[in-house]
Amino acid sequence: MAFEGLAGRLQETFNKLRGKGKVSEEDVNQMMREVRLALLEADVNFKVVKDFVSRVKERAIGQEVLKSLTPGQQVIKVVNEELTQLMGGTQSKLNMSPKPPTIIMMVGLQGAGKTTHTGKLSKYLQKQNKQPLLIAADIYRPAAIKQLQVLGEQLKIPVFSMGNEVSPVEIAKKGIEYAKAENRDVVIIDTAGRLHIDETLMNELLQIRDEVKPHEILLVVDAMTGQDAVNVANSFHETLSLTGVILTKLDGDTRGGAAISVKAVTGCPIKFVGMGEKLDQIEPFYPDRMASRILGMGDVLTLIEKAQATVDSQKAKDLEKKIRSAEFSFEDFLDQLEQVKKMGPLDEILGMIPGLNKAKGLKDLKVDDKQLAHVEAIIKSMTKEEKQHPEILNASRRRRIANGSGTSIQDVNRLLKQFEDMKKMMKQFSNMAKTKGKKKKGF
Ligand code: GDP
Repeated sequence: MAFEGLAGRLQETFNKLRGKGKVSEEDVNQMMREVRLALLEADVNFKVVKDFVSRVKERAIGQEVLKSLTPGQQVIKVVNEELTQLMGGTQSKLNMSPKPPTIIMMVGLQGAGKTTHTGKLSKYLQKQNKQPLLIAADIYRPAAIKQLQVLGEQLKIPVFSMGNEVSPVEIAKKGIEYAKAENRDVVIIDTAGRLHIDETLMNELLQIRDEVKPHEILLVVDAMTGQDAVNVANSFHETLSLTGVILTKLDGDTRGGAAISVKAVTGCPIKFVGMGEKLDQIEPFYPDRMASRILGMGDVLTLIEKAQATVDSQKAKDLEKKIRSAEFSFEDFLDQLEQVKKMGPLDEILGMIPGLNKAKGLKDLKVDDKQLAHVEAIIKSMTKEEKQHPEILNASRRRRIANGSGTSIQDVNRLLKQFEDMKKMMKQFSNMAKTKGKKKKGF
């Protein structure tokens, strides 16, 4: 999970401060020494750490914080605000041209995830009712054009290519003419990468840029390379004047140094982050939400957005009705489980829930996907009647289900008990809601 180490370290530091009625200047100094170390260990740029620590100290030692009623909380608030500021303050959105097509040029080193993110971004835009066209302008890597075409087919998005004999500048130019003729409103150009930055690469990218005058030049960099990612961003920005960064593989980056330093070092905002290999694992980058995640305050907004994007709203309404009438069955339960699974890996989802994301706590919690698979197997081994009327599950039926699902009778019993408890709770809630409703009507 992203930021595991840093989040854990910072939370430990803050826990010492939380709830303290009195915080001295020495407390703040001590805490900031720990924060400084935690940030350096997370591979945050040295100068960025230094400036950050001195800014927080200056504000935290200020009178209004130390003399406030909840100084501990106030210091954490200052850290949160400064961390948000460091990562750009507010969300930096894509610059869409009022006169279509919007031209987006993707640049980056080989292996950073450029082609994958060309696909992800086009899917993201497609969901917002845009009609993208992809241009295959990487003529050097043998499989690059094919890779983009496969993505295009998968996403049902057209891909413009002229093979690998024509210059990338020409391909980009012709591709844009084609997009205009076909009324495509966004064009994403996948350019060539190299293993290292070199002059030939930069010259070619400059030529494409000057020819097509893109509205966005997005650099794709791999978060797992830490400070290297920041250095790469710096070099590309100096030559090409980037408009934004897509930070990929954040799902595998336990340190988070690049995410925190890129904006502060280069001045160039992170616009999106890549959270996995699948095509929908791209998220807009919100500095405030990211700061919250790092400080262990969760990220409820992203969680809600994910739920809204994946949960079927009709199903949600039907479910609410069933809960109110206490008709909730194992079939509904299974349905719910599948909806939650669609939202992504469990630990990623739990990481967004405030209080649940303390790295240590998560490890103890062990809500692994395997356990869920057990629950699923048990429910799937029930007959339709059993799913709807679990009260008929006698000992022999339970044994059959345990055998069928490869679990034990204890596992089956535990699930039945949990299910009953859940139903009781739901009944209580719906009774509470009913009496509340009646009271309201009485007025
Ligand atoms: P390119 O050379 O920059 O075009 O890189 P590719 O798009 O071919 O990606 C290189 C590898 O990184 C592929 O195996 C991708 O599946 C993988 N990859 C890309 N983005 C992500 C991401 O956000 N998370 C993870 N875990 N893997 C990614």
